[in-house]
Amino acid sequence: MSQILPHDAALVLFSGGQDSATCLAWALSRFARVETLGFDYGQRHAVELDCRDRLIDGLKQIHPDWAKKLGDSHTLSIPTLATISDTALTRDVAIAMGADGLPNTFVPGRNLLFLTFAAALAYRRGIGALVGGMCETDYSGYPDCRDATLKALTTALNLGMATDFELHTPLMWRDKAATWALAHELGGDALVDLIREDSHTCYLGERGARHDWGYGCGECPACQLRAKGWREYEAGKAS
Ligand code: ZN
Repeated sequence: MSQILPHDAALVLFSGGQDSATCLAWALSRFARVETLGFDYGQRHAVELDCRDRLIDGLKQIHPDWAKKLGDSHTLSIPTLATISDTALTRDVAIAMGADGLPNTFVPGRNLLFLTFAAALAYRRGIGALVGGMCETDYSGYPDCRDATLKALTTALNLGMATDFELHTPLMWRDKAATWALAHELGGDALVDLIREDSHTCYLGERGARHDWGYGCGECPACQLRAKGWREYEAGKAS
């Protein structure tokens, strides 16, 4: 018994951050039908989830073709993840490095859970391609973002569901500056401006201050990474 799923349809893991917004545009430029999935697990920056609707509206305006391809936007609530983790994303504690050498923003195995839920949903929706913004190049050392982890998980999911998912991680080998450049390639200044204005990356969930790279506290690791990538992207354009 096996189930062959169409590979011209994609489910994008879409949090409303810079990376997943870029991945959504990437998927819209390649697949015939695209749906999105976000997770609500009690994260402090639930503001990311609010950004999703504005990004989706904006993407529809950039390309009439993208508007036709965009299908349902799903949200799965998994509060269990907050119950079993003790991290700065879900509790009001400072972001710091833990004894395991990882920042305490790390929810152990989070991407494994997300992708497993995504695969189960995609199976039901008749979607054969999964798209995620995981990145091994410019990241905080999260072991569940590694290419080898994700390849192994895809193998396990295909065995466990007797199907043939393809997992696409277009940002795996791109740094943040290259992610901005990819957005420009896909949707020009309009897409870069949309992502600057309406995507959200800040770990603290701050939207107050507007920087040239977008909104955020400017101090947390996510803001610093985003700001550094923006500076490098701007410098690359000028040279
Ligand atoms: Zn921040």
